[in-house]
Amino acid sequence: MDKMKTMLIVDDSRTNRAILKGIFKDLYMTLEAADGLEAVELVKKYEINVIILDLNMPHMDGFEFMDYMRRSSAYSNIPIVVNTQYGQEENEIKALAMGAQDFISKPYNIEIVQHRVRNVIVKEQLEEQILEAEMDKKLIRKMKDVIEKDALTGIYTREAFCKYTQDMLQMNPETDYVLMRLDVERFKIINDLFGTKVGDMVLNIIAQKLKKKLQGIGTYGRIAGDNFVCCFPEGTINMEDIGLQHDPDIEELQLKYDITLYYGVYRITDRSVSINLMCDRAEMVIRTIKGNYLKRIAYYDDELRMKMLEEQQLTNDMQSGLKNGEFCIFLQPIYDVNSDNITTAEALVRWNHATKGIISPGIFIPLFERNGLITKLDRYVWELACKSIRSSIDNGETVVPISVNVSRINLFLPNLGEELVALLDQYHLEPHHLKLEITESAYTKDQKQLLDAIMKLKEKGFTIVMDDFGSGYSSLNVLKDMPIDVVKVDMSFINDVSTSRKADVIMMNMVRMAKEIGITVVVEGVETEDQLQYLKSINCDQIQGFLYSKPVPEAVFHSMEGKEAQE
Ligand code: C2E
Ligand code: CA
Ligand code: CA
Repeated sequence: MDKMKTMLIVDDSRTNRAILKGIFKDLYMTLEAADGLEAVELVKKYEINVIILDLNMPHMDGFEFMDYMRRSSAYSNIPIVVNTQYGQEENEIKALAMGAQDFISKPYNIEIVQHRVRNVIVKEQLEEQILEAEMDKKLIRKMKDVIEKDALTGIYTREAFCKYTQDMLQMNPETDYVLMRLDVERFKIINDLFGTKVGDMVLNIIAQKLKKKLQGIGTYGRIAGDNFVCCFPEGTINMEDIGLQHDPDIEELQLKYDITLYYGVYRITDRSVSINLMCDRAEMVIRTIKGNYLKRIAYYDDELRMKMLEEQQLTNDMQSGLKNGEFCIFLQPIYDVNSDNITTAEALVRWNHATKGIISPGIFIPLFERNGLITKLDRYVWELACKSIRSSIDNGETVVPISVNVSRINLFLPNLGEELVALLDQYHLEPHHLKLEITESAYTKDQKQLLDAIMKLKEKGFTIVMDDFGSGYSSLNVLKDMPIDVVKVDMSFINDVSTSRKADVIMMNMVRMAKEIGITVVVEGVETEDQLQYLKSINCDQIQGFLYSKPVPEAVFHSMEGKEAQE
């Protein structure tokens, strides 16, 4: 049973108090006060649930008491029922205006009086509960905001975005939706150039833009860093409207730097796919156009899906492939233009996949680079190269050095030189047996770090080959600054020479310059006799290409060497 409620009867007439006490004694604990002042003392002392108040009293009358109660925050919600004389309507109105909940008047009808008081108490309790619920709601809303909204931009976090998008899809089963990911092009540069404060401002502008475009239409959130995502019914939004070109807020920042977005679009056709996975897929789409200045928007489709599934499959098979010896090297000879002798062989890895057959490195090297297994793979290839040379020596065959590829990531292994020397020792070989091909794109990174890495390898006696020269952002400066021995001109260059006068001039001068500073020039991808004659005419040193030989299995390569030696 509920605890009995406490009633305070305030009346200067003892008889009145006795009558009221008689009416309520079975329902409430009763306290009595003879005037307002006494009542105040009791209110301070006890927890009171309802007050029956006479208006005409000495010392502190009913109105003064009500005034006191209304002003004190601790007591203002104790319900007061005013006890008036019959016919004193004016007093009743004044009392109600001052906050009395109800009134009773003599002669008392016991039942009515009891009901009125009970109702007043119930009403007060209800109001209190409602108030509490309101406060809970506000608190919950605030807590939800903290959890669901990104602190920087105030839009949904990844988790909240996924949840609300799921809800939206469920509520609109007939609508076709599009999920789109947005990514700021080279956001890191914005942070580096203008500071993180400006970076944050840019992120905020994008968030506000999404909000403006999508509020009431779809969902939107910031997934991480400079990655945003939104979901809306197909056709409702012109996606590039969310772009930042000519955006007044961006222009206001006066950055003198074009901020562009990449868009990855995923059309939601299969709703059993989780929103999380859709976000990932939209991101994969963006990855296919990152760094592409012409293409800003890409769509996830079945072709891409198949490609990605295949990649996933290959990624899963890498470890076991390495363990089961599914990788081997093919060797491609590099010839001296004048003597036609083989000077070097480049080791090119092949994956003889258990079920898929031979896979080209163009397909799997980028995957190995992405998940870090490239270190294992390169080491494996270096060892195969050493084994190959060792067996040539043991069989008394002519021995040429083997050029191995060193992936960008591996170039910065802290003990690369020592490691390679240890490997050579194991097979009783010398550093001149291996040449190290470093891809040109490595040269555009931290120049100082690169120089250190190359110097360390040079100190150990290795020959350094700069691979794929001319394929990227190479500058002739690297030829001057880096201690390289050989530069390998990318095959795209030789293809251009016959059609472009510019490429021709550059090629000619490059060969001349390189030779003048003591660097050997190898041109790769030579496929025709015309190209060979041209390269001879500009004094190129060495060539590699299908004209002489494709990459071939080791055994085939050794027979070529043998034949050459016989000639
Ligand atoms: P790369 O180092 O530039 O290797 C030269 C590529 O050009 C080889 O492709 C070779 O087969 C091809 N090639 C040679 N002559 C011609 C020609 O006359 N015409 C045409 N069209 N192509 C020619 P491959 O073997 O498919 O290798 C592709 C790339 O994979 C290599 O390019 C290299 O970057 C990478 N790679 C290969 N093996 C390894 C390795 O063991 N480790 C690392 N990190 N990367 C490797
Ligand atoms: Ca190479
Ligand atoms: Ca190359």
